[in-house]
Amino acid sequence: MTLVYPETRTQDIRIALQERREELDAEYTAAVAESTLAGVVDSGDDVADLGTKAFNREQEFALAQSLRTRLDQVVRALERLDAGHYGTCETCAGEIPVARLAAFPSVTLCVSCKSRSESRY
Ligand SMILES: [Zn+2]
Repeated sequence: MTLVYPETRTQDIRIALQERREELDAEYTAAVAESTLAGVVDSGDDVADLGTKAFNREQEFALAQSLRTRLDQVVRALERLDAGHYGTCETCAGEIPVARLAAFPSVTLCVSCKSRSESRY
């Protein structure tokens, strides 16, 4: 006999979020490494090289920052999931699809409520 536990959805969300966290973690680590490499100053660098390196370093740093923010959103989403109030729409209390949660871990509205709230402005 197979029982369908209500936790199945929670499990699905957890797995999706954990996968997302691993991806972001790897991207973040790579971005930090890149940003360190991009900033390495060579003794043969001229002013233009130094300018390019500073620019690249800033780009990589900005990327690392945005990955960090997304990573934090995933971590917070997992905490909310553990607390038992994650994945339902704040407006209609409907279930937000797992794929949407994985793509945008900080969402609190389902697609239709979100588009309704946006069309008001
Ligand atoms: Zn809704």
